[in-house]
Amino acid sequence: MDDCIFCKIIEGVIPSKKVFENEDLVAFEDLNPVAPVHVLLVPKRHFANLYEMSSTPQGLETLNSLYKALPELVRACGLESKGFRLINNCGENAGQTVMHVHFHLVGGIPLGPRII
Ligand code: AMP
Ligand code: ZN
Repeated sequence: MDDCIFCKIIEGVIPSKKVFENEDLVAFEDLNPVAPVHVLLVPKRHFANLYEMSSTPQGLETLNSLYKALPELVRACGLESKGFRLINNCGENAGQTVMHVHFHLVGGIPLGPRII
């Protein structure tokens, strides 16, 4: 999609530090990490947010593919023994800033208080 920063990263127009890729998704380091590991898990197909993604059969298939890849990604990031958070911000009230659905994989230190 034109004008989408993550589509441009997926196309290779904007550089990123990739840590994982398969036919459905790419994972790259967040530009402003909040922890030693802060990776964005991003489907190659553009959906604006998790609500839109999970509202279509294609989106649900992609979600399934994303969760299938999670163990390999977690191991690639060295997070399999100590754990991690997988966070999605969906829409305005959740503070989503990039309107191409993505999951933050965060870990590598104790992550502090939970709000939920
Ligand atoms: P969210 O606020 O949940 O939409 O998350 C968007 C995330 O994208 C933020 O954590 C940003 O730091 C990150 N981000 C924005 N632009 C880039 C970029 N070019 N490369 C890597 N991460 C980015
Ligand atoms: Zn996009």
